[in-house]
Amino acid sequence: MAQSNVAVAPAAHEKLKALGILALNGMFDEMDALSVLRYAVSDVLPGDLAIVSSFGADSAVLLHMVAQVDPSLPVYFLETGKHFPETLAYVETLKKTLGLLNVHTVHPNPDDVRRFDPDGDLWETDPDSCCHIRKTEPLEPITEQYGGWVTGRKRYQTTERGVLPHFELTSDDRIKVNPLAYFSDADVVEYRQTRNLPEHPLYAKGFKSIGCAPCTSAVADGEDPRAGRWRGLNKKECGIHYDFNGAIASPMTAASRHTLWKDGAFIADPFKEWTEGTDPASARYVHVPLPEFLANRDAYLANPHPLGLLVSPGESVEDVAEDLSRFASVAIRFPAFSDGRGYSTARLLAERYRFAGEIRAVGDVLQDQIPLMRRCGINALVVTHEPTRHALVENRLPEVAIFYQPVGTAEVPVGTRPFLRRVS
Ligand code: SF4
Repeated sequence: MAQSNVAVAPAAHEKLKALGILALNGMFDEMDALSVLRYAVSDVLPGDLAIVSSFGADSAVLLHMVAQVDPSLPVYFLETGKHFPETLAYVETLKKTLGLLNVHTVHPNPDDVRRFDPDGDLWETDPDSCCHIRKTEPLEPITEQYGGWVTGRKRYQTTERGVLPHFELTSDDRIKVNPLAYFSDADVVEYRQTRNLPEHPLYAKGFKSIGCAPCTSAVADGEDPRAGRWRGLNKKECGIHYDFNGAIASPMTAASRHTLWKDGAFIADPFKEWTEGTDPASARYVHVPLPEFLANRDAYLANPHPLGLLVSPGESVEDVAEDLSRFASVAIRFPAFSDGRGYSTARLLAERYRFAGEIRAVGDVLQDQIPLMRRCGINALVVTHEPTRHALVENRLPEVAIFYQPVGTAEVPVGTRPFLRRVS
């Protein structure tokens, strides 16, 4: 382990860079999770890798693998002060059952808690800030000590994680290892059952994804396992993995620092602007212009990193219809208020191609357009226009009750003029 707390790229990364994250992912795409972890520990970052675990519903799987590879690997548990007592008991159960020798508990800074959450109810009024002081801030100095860390994230969990590779090079030159990236929900259950691993005490009560007590509820049969996390709130991640490019988001000042508005809030944008000369084989977290994608299609399809697509007016999304599932996000450019071609592109994506990833509007995004954009399937906006940003923060969007063109099925003709429709 590196001794310094200063965030510098450890020397081990030179080896990884020389090998190439692309080649690394290529080598391990077909490998099982245990082999990925074993190789990461022995060859990629020996002595320089830590595990961060929530000790939640799925955690036994990764921790069991850790115990197989090296039970003395450092494991960090974020004790937010808001966990279920059952989770705290489960930490002890897993430590004992799996023989983990090096589990550390990380607490929030008491000064931060006193200052920002004196009554312990910040989760109710500002959960992003609560996660920031209880999770993101305490974890930062820990991860800075290591060349990389292992996560239990899986592709099936969220759309954003749908293209998660085994190895990621973060924006500060660290490695994130995701041995379970290709595990399905069924794989997790099967792994746990065949090895008779202890189950989280709340799992049988319907808690399929378990975080802090105030922000976790049971899910119904057939419901998305993560639906019980921050139920009813426009929040899906705690902040630790918020920016899957490696930088940790700072939601305390989200509205003033970020331009991406999604699910009701300004958040850190994992995507960066595409620049001329970007290598198609190694590009990551950029929206590739559609003509550029077509010109280098094979290289982009072989590229293992998360990518987006940028569609400008006059370009046809039909040209990339069969490759849409390759993209985590499609950005549609709106160059001017009067140019409505982007709405048609959004509708094609949402209705004809059932695109499940993010559809974002970029360019001249103004307050009056937003209800129409959302109606066409756009679920994220890059907003730089200050009055529009204020309107979003204050939830002041114009209401549009009647439309000329039908969209989707939940709309009904209005009165004797069937070309006018209203949301039913
Ligand atoms: S999950 Fe909830 S209680 Fe836990 S840190 Fe985040 S907002 Fe606070």
